[in-house]
Amino acid sequence: MRLRMKFRHRVVVMSVAGTLAVVYLFLMYTGLLPKIFSSHEDKLKKFMDKNPLSFSFKGWKVNAGQCRADFSVPKDVIATQDLAERTDFNTYVNGLYNLPHAELKDAAYGPNLRPLSVIIVPHSHLDPGWLETVDEYYNRKVKFILDHMVRKLHLYQDMTFIWAEIIFFHRWWESQSKLIKEQVHDLVKSGRLEIVSGGWVMPDEASTHYISVIDQLIEGHQWVFETFGIKPSSSWSIDPFGHSGTMPYLWKHSGMSNMVIGRIHQGTKGRLALEKSLEFYWKQYWSSSNSDDILCHVMPYMLYSLHHTCGPDKFICAMFDFRKIPGEPEFSIIQPITKENIVNKAKELYEQYRLKSSLFTHGTIFVPLGDDFRYDHIEEWDQQYENYKKLMKYMNSKPEWKINVKFGTINDYFKEIKNTEMSSLFPKRELSGDFFPYSDHDKAYWTGYFSTRPFDKRFSREVETRLRASEILHSIALAYSDYWNVKYKFLQRAPRLLKEARDNLGIFLHHDAITGTSKAYVVEDYEEKLLLAYDNAMHVMGSAAQFLLTKGKLDNDPSILEPELTRATYKQSSMHQKISPTKEGTRIVLYNPTSHLRSEFVEVIVDSVEFQIKDSKRKEVPFQINPVFVSGTEVDRTVFEIVFLTEISAFGIETYILQTINRTPKSFWSKITIYNSEELIIGPELKFEQERPRHRGNLNEAILIENSQIAAEFKPINGLLDKWIEKADNKTKVTKIMLDFKQYTSRGSGAYIFLPTGPATNMLQGTPVVRVIEGPFCTEVQSVYVHLYHRVRLYHHPGLQGRQLFIQNALNMFVLNMRDREPIMRILTSINNEKGSFFTDENGFQFIGRKRHPTDEQYQSIERSYYPVTTMAFIEDGKTRVTVHTGQAHGAASLERGWLEFMIDRQLLYDDERGLGEGISDNKLTMTKYMLTIEHYDTSTFEDKFTFPSMQANIINEFLNHPIQKMYTPINSEIVSPNFVPLKQPLPCDIFVVGMKSLYKADLSFNGTSLVIHRKGFRCGYPSDGLQCPSTNVNVAPLFPGVLKGSVRETSLTHLTTKQSKVNLENLQVPPMEIKSFVIS
Ligand SMILES: [Zn+2]
Repeated sequence: MRLRMKFRHRVVVMSVAGTLAVVYLFLMYTGLLPKIFSSHEDKLKKFMDKNPLSFSFKGWKVNAGQCRADFSVPKDVIATQDLAERTDFNTYVNGLYNLPHAELKDAAYGPNLRPLSVIIVPHSHLDPGWLETVDEYYNRKVKFILDHMVRKLHLYQDMTFIWAEIIFFHRWWESQSKLIKEQVHDLVKSGRLEIVSGGWVMPDEASTHYISVIDQLIEGHQWVFETFGIKPSSSWSIDPFGHSGTMPYLWKHSGMSNMVIGRIHQGTKGRLALEKSLEFYWKQYWSSSNSDDILCHVMPYMLYSLHHTCGPDKFICAMFDFRKIPGEPEFSIIQPITKENIVNKAKELYEQYRLKSSLFTHGTIFVPLGDDFRYDHIEEWDQQYENYKKLMKYMNSKPEWKINVKFGTINDYFKEIKNTEMSSLFPKRELSGDFFPYSDHDKAYWTGYFSTRPFDKRFSREVETRLRASEILHSIALAYSDYWNVKYKFLQRAPRLLKEARDNLGIFLHHDAITGTSKAYVVEDYEEKLLLAYDNAMHVMGSAAQFLLTKGKLDNDPSILEPELTRATYKQSSMHQKISPTKEGTRIVLYNPTSHLRSEFVEVIVDSVEFQIKDSKRKEVPFQINPVFVSGTEVDRTVFEIVFLTEISAFGIETYILQTINRTPKSFWSKITIYNSEELIIGPELKFEQERPRHRGNLNEAILIENSQIAAEFKPINGLLDKWIEKADNKTKVTKIMLDFKQYTSRGSGAYIFLPTGPATNMLQGTPVVRVIEGPFCTEVQSVYVHLYHRVRLYHHPGLQGRQLFIQNALNMFVLNMRDREPIMRILTSINNEKGSFFTDENGFQFIGRKRHPTDEQYQSIERSYYPVTTMAFIEDGKTRVTVHTGQAHGAASLERGWLEFMIDRQLLYDDERGLGEGISDNKLTMTKYMLTIEHYDTSTFEDKFTFPSMQANIINEFLNHPIQKMYTPINSEIVSPNFVPLKQPLPCDIFVVGMKSLYKADLSFNGTSLVIHRKGFRCGYPSDGLQCPSTNVNVAPLFPGVLKGSVRETSLTHLTTKQSKVNLENLQVPPMEIKSFVIS
């Protein structure tokens, strides 16, 4: 909080969005426009000759064994893409899909009745925020549920309960007496209280990134293990709206061997039921071993509430939910079990159980007994228990029914079926893929939430990135504190700040938080929590950087380092701080949070231009000066963006000094060209070159921006991309690639559901002022509409940074009336992909092929072809791949050959009847980020189910999602070292450090350092030049210089099980695609 207050009074500059609210004149104009660059080239060349930039390329060689392009899906594995092809998506009664049950007379009364075991699993589904905030839910409901649970499970010795959300359990536990804690221990030990999943929350599976999914799982699992000494064995993910193929991998490697999922397309459930495949081993497409497989149970009916769990008839099932609380609507309907009604009631329930059992191959079913926030009234415990006990007693006494009904847990269920697995009753099914999109009803596709509230989806990505970066730097500071034998004073405060940040980001992964499907006031609560995490992470990062740069000689808290990007309030996007170069020298501190050498241009905002920049060797570096606009056509006279080249080692820190001087600085003013307006206001003291449109051109002449590797053409009329030109081998290769903005109009969309009236229509209104800012280090085209600011930047970098276009949008749906509109950014290319087929990532971990929905021809339904994207999507034909990297999660689709589109916001007046009770009308000015690349194969291979990005694409994605972290300080002290280089040798290109963080016990004492490493899959056959990671060994030993050999162990993902002790930090073994976890103590 202190940190935030400090920054609030600062003058902040929003270089991007400040122009949006301004009204300006459009002066349409069709004169001859000079092609940019022509008059500029000489000057530019002279400048560059005088100021050569040094780039160091060390290269990277692909080992053939690392390529992951040569495998296929075995025939007997169900691929979910194929499953859709053979699924009947036609609905039956009332828009609902039917499941293929056996005939009742056969299922319940046939001659060869097999014994049936029914396990009733009492549970309560607890959303950490939805219609109420997490605190409100806790105080009004959750704490009572847990209080009652202890009392009633003590009383009812055969009753059981399962619990998933550790965020709540942990909070309740803190305030319990020793006696209660002992009682809970006994319940856990006896197996009557089962912790399922054991993550901080039950995460959404569409928009979440695996970095934070793992992070919240480590937090939950560490607490569960420390508190109870147990390791969760089953995951319980019953409410997320569709299921990702990445989660089974994460659950399996966290030590769980079973999983339960709920919401998959009802039509798909029907098909799986028909194939007796509602239980299967979920395999990774890319994995040939079965070590990644996990047994998955799909809950067959619509929902997890008792109305949908006892059997196919929800009206009958509803009568077996015995909660009877005065004032609730069901109060008068619910009939407790009596001597008079038990015969009929038991028969009805028996038949439902038998019908449910007909969907499975073995003789055991489990029946969840609960719903949202159940068991909050103490009476409910008695009502459910007593009535079910009567039913059980009766049913179990009927030998002809061959049934045994009892209370139990999910663990009990899986144990029981795994006993039968050995028999022929449980044929082994295997499945690969995922379960998107989800639909619960005809015409209701839950593909809207992939894009709902993009402001928060972007916000959480920034928090995730920053938290990860600060955790890593903090871990390094800790290791060096030991090594240097210098006290790291901030160590006292860091655990609380980090824990709070992890918990606050963790809560946002909840399936009503990052999904954007909570009430507006609950969203604000999440945003406040995200802001706290954002600030805490920065606080820790600043302190760690200060410690490392001063060897602990400076111990200011907060540190002297201030973040260059801050958020003034939770309602605003990140904004650049204005940095003032001084006579003494203002320091800019840049930290590279990745394991690879980063050579790239960075930008900061300054309030003067008469200064020099010196790098860590105290060599002067040139910089480009770009304008910041106060309106569409007026340049700010006091604020500038400067761009300069940096090179930072893996996890390293470099400092730059900005010092005012009296001589001409080594800088280059960019040139500004304005289209579609005759006005360009530049203060006379500013030395920006200008190329004003005069009446001598035509608007058909394209705007061209280029570097040594690529060029891009834009249409002057709207400033939108039109062509991509590659310059390899002295030849040019042109790819048609047009960018456009459109919008869908809702006919039934809401927070969850996407249901447009038809194809997208034009969204852009009026003619924008188009600005071209051109300089030696970067050139960009900016389109300034009233409601949209769109910029595309090309860096003039000979490496990877120069091989992509950086795209940024700032959309403000409130400026224009965009109610019931769902805007998209669409890219139209000449790629000859199969219509509707494209690839998306799954939680940033792997890539899956998407197809047109099988019903597309029949319904022309756009909403069915939308899929979630977390970090990357691409379309490809046999030769070329167009990739869009995203800095936030989106819904995306490829509706026509060559198209790829991303939904960028949604403003919806109406509720979509999934319980939220309101539309989405709290849209904020939202900035979204992308990178666009085009790559060519050397060989063509047809892929449709899954593939991999190129190695270059993996690294480019790091530029976007793990940017260099910038800090600054006006204090230029000699105590501050010019740089810190912990890893002289970067890690191999395909190695990604998912996380490196301190583990804390509940009392916040240190419990070792967690290191999680992913060896990313990549597809060979693409160029691999420009990659600067020559290493082959995963050698992280230099990050932990004081650590003794042998004090490192390899563990399960969340560190609960040791797999190998005495691991060598100099050569960690991580096979392709796999994630490995280590603990350094
Ligand atoms: Zn839920």
